[in-house]
Amino acid sequence: MSLLTVGSVAFDALETPFGKTDKIIGGAATYITLSASYFTSENNLVAVVGDDFPQSMIDILKDHGVNTEGLEIRQGEKTFFWSGKYHHDMNTRDTVEVQLNVMGSFDPVIPDAYQNCEFLMLGNTAPSIQKQVIERLTNRPKLIMLDTMNFWMDSAWDDLLEVLKLVDVVTINDEEARQLSGESALVKAAAKIGAMGPKTVIIKKGEHGALLFHGDHVFFAPALPLEEVFDPTGAGDTFAGGFIGYLASTGDVSFNNMKRGIIYGSAMASFCVEKFGAERLFNLSKQEINDRVMQFVSLSAFELQ
Ligand code: AMP
Repeated sequence: MSLLTVGSVAFDALETPFGKTDKIIGGAATYITLSASYFTSENNLVAVVGDDFPQSMIDILKDHGVNTEGLEIRQGEKTFFWSGKYHHDMNTRDTVEVQLNVMGSFDPVIPDAYQNCEFLMLGNTAPSIQKQVIERLTNRPKLIMLDTMNFWMDSAWDDLLEVLKLVDVVTINDEEARQLSGESALVKAAAKIGAMGPKTVIIKKGEHGALLFHGDHVFFAPALPLEEVFDPTGAGDTFAGGFIGYLASTGDVSFNNMKRGIIYGSAMASFCVEKFGAERLFNLSKQEINDRVMQFVSLSAFELQ
């Protein structure tokens, strides 16, 4: 089934305890579409960049089967820029700088060929834009998933509450879940966020895995204990792309299938953190992905005597 992803395509500058990069390619939608491309062949992108964005990266997306008809390239303008610095635990980070540039006036145009998509992934971008995308689709997709972050809670609270009413699944990290709900216990936070609209709430806990809440059902997926975590940027988006890509490839949105989706998403995120930026997602094989998924299976499988 087809997937439409909307979100940032960006330049990032990163600093981790292990190194520093100048401007490299990043953006929520970049990670999401690359990750989803390993599962679904109908992968449509809506985003905006400036004329400083390299054609070589657009070609990489196309090579992964991503439809870039909805990627607007604005002449004479600059691409969104974000820079972040990670703390020693690599689980927490500070935003050092955000330059909205083209994102400041992003007016998402949905190409006709993208209408009737069954799955919609609203990657991290302004909540008002996320809402506009939903309104500009002629038919409501089978599943709408939204990712957001503290930046929008601080700057666009009311818009965020509006769009949350319209979505089925929200992914959010633990700190942001506490900020959004005002609850410190994650079970209570998930229930409060669920009452804001999304029936399914996924709380990402970085190196401590992810929790999936749906009504009274809860599922937990660990993160793979990796020897080296090089750069966690984009791990959350890669996770979301793997999750929704897997759901789109099966067409099944049941809680049981979402459990499998969480594991596929976690496996994809475990690759992402192994290199700076999105590079590790450029050349994965189906075999590598399946091997990782099997590592997740054995990580927490045990027998009762
Ligand atoms: P993640 O590490 O999964 O939270 O995602 C990091 C990506 O989000 C980076 O590549 C950034 O370019 C992008 N990003 C950071 N802040 C924003 C923002 N305010 N709006 C849209 N994208 C952002």
